[in-house]
Amino acid sequence: MQITRRTLMSGAIALAGGMMIPRIAWTNASLDLTGGTLDTLSDGHLALPRSFVLADVPQPQADEVLAQFGIAPDAETLRPDCNLTLWRDGDRVVLFDAGSGPDFMPTAGKVMAALDALGLSAEDVTDVVFTHGHPDHLWGVLDDFDEPLFAQAQHHMGRIEYEYWSDPTLTETIAPERVTFAVGAARRLAVLADTIKLFDDGDTVLPGVTARATYGHTPGHMAFEVGSGAKAVLILGDCIANHHLAFAHPDWANGSDQDPDAGAATRIRMLADLAERQTVFAGFHLPHPGIGRAVRAGEGYDYVPLE
Ligand SMILES: [Zn+2]
Repeated sequence: MQITRRTLMSGAIALAGGMMIPRIAWTNASLDLTGGTLDTLSDGHLALPRSFVLADVPQPQADEVLAQFGIAPDAETLRPDCNLTLWRDGDRVVLFDAGSGPDFMPTAGKVMAALDALGLSAEDVTDVVFTHGHPDHLWGVLDDFDEPLFAQAQHHMGRIEYEYWSDPTLTETIAPERVTFAVGAARRLAVLADTIKLFDDGDTVLPGVTARATYGHTPGHMAFEVGSGAKAVLILGDCIANHHLAFAHPDWANGSDQDPDAGAATRIRMLADLAERQTVFAGFHLPHPGIGRAVRAGEGYDYVPLE
């Protein structure tokens, strides 16, 4: 396996703190696997209230871990990166998740610039495979006219996840802070309903792409094994959603998991397996380049980005 890492600047500028400041906007890491190439594409980043991520973790304990990553105890906002994964194999151009699109947060929804930097357009994407139905993964799927942005692509989603977000009673049962997630997902999935392909745990979604149930973050969250054997790479989605608390203390509840207990159980199982096998993984919210390995560190793990 060979990894090369490139940082591409589009010349774009981002609005931060009310001032226009230039920042490196689009990055990718490139991984050559047998028969294909895997890239991570930046969709920008989120700005999440600290309380949304940390849930019930006692503040002194959380502060101690976050301080090791340079995050001040009084920081009200966490800013996780968003990395889509692109898998190119023969004629297939497969995008894992569609990003935020323009309607979720002004700091996210930038993936078209990253595709452009690779010389690709939306029409070149042959398949869009969703890990789950949260806004930062699904809402980028439609264009300004509410048509599929990736107009030539076959869309794929896990059956449990699709049925969960398509349930018309979901807005009455989901937590109040996630009602907009439910409305936004239902609207987008309704456009895709006649053509989307559904799959189950263990299914071969596409040649060389196998679905792995990783429930908890959402009821039907899926990770994907790309390639096979020792060279397989795991596309994690949000089953390991940050690089500090999730690795140091996988058993701690993550407020972004819809079922925190199931999310923690999945994280513990996945990290044990990833560390033992030294599997390379791509994580949607892991920092640049969004690809790395997990190594045991004390009671938990460290995230080791690939260089
Ligand atoms: Zn996410």
